[in-house]
Amino acid sequence: MARIVMKFGGTSVADLDRIRNVAAHVKREVDAGHQVAVVVSAMAGQTNHLVEMTRAASPMHDAREYDAIVASGEQVTSGLLAIVLQSMGVDARSWQGWQIPVKTDNAHGAARIQNINGDLLIERFGIGQVAVIAGFQGIGPDNRIATLGRGGSDTSAVAVAAAVKADRCDIYTDVDGVYTTDPRIEPAARRLARISFEEMLEMASLGAKVLQVRSVELAMAHNVRTFVRSSFEAPDAPGMDDFDNPPGTLICDEDEIVEQQNVTGIAYARDEAQISLRRVRDRPGISAAIFGPLAEAGINVDMIVQNVSSDGQFTDMTFTVPNGDVEKSVATLDAVRDEIGYDAVQSDTGLAKVSVIGVGMRSHAGVAATAFKALADKGINIRAITTSEIKISILIDGPYCELAVRTLHSVYGLDKP
Ligand code: ASP
Ligand code: MG
Repeated sequence: MARIVMKFGGTSVADLDRIRNVAAHVKREVDAGHQVAVVVSAMAGQTNHLVEMTRAASPMHDAREYDAIVASGEQVTSGLLAIVLQSMGVDARSWQGWQIPVKTDNAHGAARIQNINGDLLIERFGIGQVAVIAGFQGIGPDNRIATLGRGGSDTSAVAVAAAVKADRCDIYTDVDGVYTTDPRIEPAARRLARISFEEMLEMASLGAKVLQVRSVELAMAHNVRTFVRSSFEAPDAPGMDDFDNPPGTLICDEDEIVEQQNVTGIAYARDEAQISLRRVRDRPGISAAIFGPLAEAGINVDMIVQNVSSDGQFTDMTFTVPNGDVEKSVATLDAVRDEIGYDAVQSDTGLAKVSVIGVGMRSHAGVAATAFKALADKGINIRAITTSEIKISILIDGPYCELAVRTLHSVYGLDKP
């Protein structure tokens, strides 16, 4: 017997038929003798609809009331799933965030979970009852419903799994796992059997939108083995009842991954822009003078490359921001031009960032050189490079994004089993 948290996203509970399908997945695990808590999202599109109504009521609405409204989508699906499970003879009960309770901070609309008391849930496991939990919501110190930010039910699920010390948190979604790269770009992309928390964090923050980034951080912090699998696979399809080895991708501690490849996956982000400050007067504090005002303006700066100034007087500073933030960035830098002291600011939009990710890089030399050579062979120009222990990110012109992804995917042999 194991204890599992099963999470189902919006497309998995999109209508009553889909909810019945979810119930069949849940019943399979219950019949196998496992203790089960289920975390559900709102029906697909429902949260968007609620957000729109909130805005229509008043663009300057109170965040507490926003939360009261948008949290309701999950309340509906938790109740519906409990009813369907009961009708199938499974003992089930719905739980809202405040009932457990899932305690959050006071940041309404983007609250963080501070604590979950798992005692009541564990008590119900003891009598064989399935807890059907509304994701995305908790209760703040002001005793009011608080929501966790869009996509937050992944985080709810991982947090519940940590609180009840679940053996695994199964995230059921509309894809059947995490792939070596985006299969829409590279059809030869393969599903990974396992990926480490750290690698997944890089993949998730780079647009592999399988999981909310925060849920992966939480899973890493609490070592919650998190399993990405498909709810669109028939509940009784071959292998689905194989508890130890079902179809999907396990996100886990590096130590659980026996055969580590150098490179695990290729991620990409489009709509990047490059901004370069030319002939910046080089002196201590220059980076703070540039990036302080940008941070205050709420601009998310990503790659930063600074040249070594040969004469100790002038340097070039290049960095990337999302396309949509270029004008604001340039205006912000213009406003502090005298304090910084530079000759010109140049910007280019429509770029792409392609990243090679793998914990195996830590112990293998030459991974970066392989990427540079492969891109050169295809005539792809590199604008900027940044690296971390487990990632190499390369900035290129947007139209080359797909070619670069496919080239890197094959040069590291990711298309071969
Ligand atoms: N229903 C919420 C949203 O659409 C939470 C979630 O689905 O994870 O953002
Ligand atoms: Mg989601």
